[in-house]
Amino acid sequence: LNILLVGSGGREHALAWKIAQSPLCGRLVAAPGNPGMAAVAELRAVKVTDVEGLVALAQEIAADLVVVGPESALEVGLADRLAEIGIPCFGGSQRAARLETSKAFTKDFCARHDLPTAAYGVFTDAPAAGAFLDTLQAPFVIKADGLAAGKGVVIAQTRPEADAAVLDMLGGRFGTAGARVVIEEFMQGEEASLFALCDGKTALLFGAAQDHKRAYDGDEGPNTGGMGTYSPPPVLTDALVRQAWNELILPTVRGMAAEGNPYVGVLYAGLMLTPEGPKLVEYNARFGDPECQTLMLRLESDLVPILLAAAKGELAGAAKPVWRDEAAICVVLAAEGYPDAPNTGGVITGAEAEFGDRAVIFHAGTARDDAGQLVASGGRVLNVCALGTTLLEAREAAYAALETISLPGGFYRRDIGWRALGQG
Ligand code: ATP
Repeated sequence: LNILLVGSGGREHALAWKIAQSPLCGRLVAAPGNPGMAAVAELRAVKVTDVEGLVALAQEIAADLVVVGPESALEVGLADRLAEIGIPCFGGSQRAARLETSKAFTKDFCARHDLPTAAYGVFTDAPAAGAFLDTLQAPFVIKADGLAAGKGVVIAQTRPEADAAVLDMLGGRFGTAGARVVIEEFMQGEEASLFALCDGKTALLFGAAQDHKRAYDGDEGPNTGGMGTYSPPPVLTDALVRQAWNELILPTVRGMAAEGNPYVGVLYAGLMLTPEGPKLVEYNARFGDPECQTLMLRLESDLVPILLAAAKGELAGAAKPVWRDEAAICVVLAAEGYPDAPNTGGVITGAEAEFGDRAVIFHAGTARDDAGQLVASGGRVLNVCALGTTLLEAREAAYAALETISLPGGFYRRDIGWRALGQG
């Protein structure tokens, strides 16, 4: 098969690594890809939001399957255009991707289908937002409706902070993404991510993980795209997975189909494990980054037939994925100054090391400079991932591999997995 993979982060490197292992994969092209992916895929310099460029590339290579990594490509309608010309695409339509791209859409959808989530209101003016805030207690959760690169959520400890956040968003801080604000009841509990692969009609459970959003050890510092993750998360028991599956995932896939927006691709549920059971924090329309990396390490099955079945609406007949009975961990090496002002251009050494299939270094934000040296080109630079018979063993292997890499000023958290392993 000829496969086009869209994206350039650690998530896409992990997908490329796994896809390339498939006996079904003939030609793998990544757009735009990254230097790490060059080992397993041909790179083509087409941007993830250049829909026409990607469609032309898919046609040029006679793609049998297009796999979309980032939500930004879905938001601009890549899957819709590929559907028009009959190229199977693993990734949702623009309308279906609203489960990620519009928080107001998702909350209204949850209300229509009676899905467990925080009580909420959607507002376009400050007085109405204020009246709703009057009915809630601190802390207050204020969100910009649209995509805001993970920065559009404020958990306000006091009412003046909440009012200021509302004014800030409605005042245009996030452009049109903040033209509507969503205000939610605060949910208590531990968070976990659950993944399902969908084909428009049905869904297949595809693992779970837990991430670490804050930049520094002990969950201190600013929010980031994610500093590390591990899978499976012991806190998400089989019983909780079943409950989330029956109360959230299945009704969502069925509800989207019933409303004329069949959902194809990854349905990534950010869950809050509250005393009343799992509740939805958010949906994402793609794999988590770096959650995907740990799933790819643990996945024993061939990924390609599963993605193809989802893209073609044939998941009902597909074999369930088989997972290694092991734990996987991913630790993010970030550039100095990440997330606020990452210092790019630093020379990376040691990233070519091979550790067999028990530990892998995925590239996230890397580039080659004019001299051909590998340099940091983004905030999150490398993802060091490892498998272990236990999570502790996986963690030790990942940190041992990290010791062999150098990036001036680079940093990583030393406590990835603490929820499952304790602080030690
Ligand atoms: P991300 O970058 O994680 O995709 P996002 O901008 O899409 O973030 P959310 O996932 O909706 O925003 O919220 C970000 C974080 O804020 C959540 O991971 C959670 O920790 C917290 N949060 C959001 N909503 C609530 C809520 N109702 N109660 C408690 N915490 C919440």
